[in-house]
Amino acid sequence: MSGLDLPSGFDLLIRGGLLVDGTGRPGRPADVGVAAGRLTVLPPGEAPRTGAAEVIEARGRVVAPGFVDVHTHSDGVTLLGASGGGSTLVRASVLQGVTTEICGNCGSSLFPALPERLPAMRAETRITFGGDVGAYADFAGFAAAHAGVPRANHLASLVGHGTLRAGVLGPVDRPARPDELRTMCALLDASLAQGAAGLSTGLIYTPGSYAGTDEVVALAAVAARHGKPYVTHLRDEMSRVEEALEEAIEISRRSGAALHVSHHKTAGRYAWGRTERTLPRIAALRAEGMDVTCDVYPYTAGSTVLAAMLPPWANDGGLAALTARLGDPAQRDRMRRSIAEGVPGWENTVGNGGWDRISVACAPRHPQTEGRTIAELAASAGADPLDVAADLLVAEAGEVTIISHSMVEEDVRRVLAAPYAMIGSDGVPKPGGRPHPRWAGTFPRVLGRYVRELGLLRLEEAVHKMTGMAAARFGLTGRGVIRDGAHADLVVFDPATVADRATFTEPLLPPAGIGAVVAGGVVVVRDGEETGARPGKVLAL
Ligand SMILES: [Zn+2]
Repeated sequence: MSGLDLPSGFDLLIRGGLLVDGTGRPGRPADVGVAAGRLTVLPPGEAPRTGAAEVIEARGRVVAPGFVDVHTHSDGVTLLGASGGGSTLVRASVLQGVTTEICGNCGSSLFPALPERLPAMRAETRITFGGDVGAYADFAGFAAAHAGVPRANHLASLVGHGTLRAGVLGPVDRPARPDELRTMCALLDASLAQGAAGLSTGLIYTPGSYAGTDEVVALAAVAARHGKPYVTHLRDEMSRVEEALEEAIEISRRSGAALHVSHHKTAGRYAWGRTERTLPRIAALRAEGMDVTCDVYPYTAGSTVLAAMLPPWANDGGLAALTARLGDPAQRDRMRRSIAEGVPGWENTVGNGGWDRISVACAPRHPQTEGRTIAELAASAGADPLDVAADLLVAEAGEVTIISHSMVEEDVRRVLAAPYAMIGSDGVPKPGGRPHPRWAGTFPRVLGRYVRELGLLRLEEAVHKMTGMAAARFGLTGRGVIRDGAHADLVVFDPATVADRATFTEPLLPPAGIGAVVAGGVVVVRDGEETGARPGKVLAL
């Protein structure tokens, strides 16, 4: 044992497992010791039978870095507390082995905003998250709010461009004036300096969609100065996905920021198969030396809000303005026409697919609609689907979550297999209803279905996509790899049984095969059950 810490100094020993260290290198037998929240890799068999406060036997199991979920919408879920159904939702992430969540995606975060915009923002986030999660002037305020709520795993946040824009201009459909853009840059700069992970956009969602390319270039240049990425939900993931990817490439080139494409997909019947063009484009850019990556979730269905199925003009002015328009039959007819004919620059999910591919995930006051498609609801009511959607939005005060069955398996597999694609759940943990099962199943599903059953990825490759690759992209120093001195975030799983069990009807069922999870050197999951320990932190990057 010469040259190693005394085994008796370890708080925890994980013994007898196959170490898959997160770098992509082949797994090897090794023991892992944890002391004061840091790792030591021990040659196999050298760890004595005693000498640690706690021992986890890992024979036949894989010991990997804790998973980094690079794409979540979990910004506020722990702030809801148990009263908001928070605990069941919160648990789902850590039970699948996630030790760090990155929120603030798709242009939506809980900060920043000018002080005078905070009350309006707080009202919006109360609706979005199904409870009072607050709104914060900057990353420091967000981190302080989270510091008061114990959590099992760690949380990092991007700065959402839509939030930033609404936090300066309000939710309005017009270009930012030069002084407003300067203010947006200053707020972004401050939050990035405090530790936010990068800049995200959601260019299909209002109010982010009201921004032109130049505005985003100016903001991405601020991220570039901090060495942080530009992370984007493209302006179109359907029939115009290639043009939208070109816009993102232009933003990255002009700003100097690294580009990360969120939940890359080519959805809707006109775009199926288009990953055969987008992925070679990204690969060619990488070969030229451009820093471009993406993430993906292992499902052919997406999830978003029902209001995003309506044309952008319908959402101009925010929720109150939308609700007023939905009450006007003439405006409804105009929405119907926009969906049938399309609007330049608008993704138009329903026009690309149909109301039969859109099912209700969460409508708290109308649970009988959950799990049914808008087309089914319309048929049984003898009504037009747009009217059914509009009535539901009005009755739910604008907040209805949907699941959109919009992709084909071949595209999902191509993206999963891309060597620069990491794993992100895109989970939307909101109380009530039937959320997309990806929040509880993403990581075990990749390991069970795409590694073990289909052989699409090697185990080490898949783990790298969930750990080392993700940590490198988002600047999670000392995480995502198992090596001496690294942070002790770990997962122990059974490669023979690991599998997702969450489904569209039972979306929060915990996975099989995830045995133990360690965050910050503390065991937070043992034998597949939460221990109740809460060592998680907000990470300032
Ligand atoms: Zn998104």
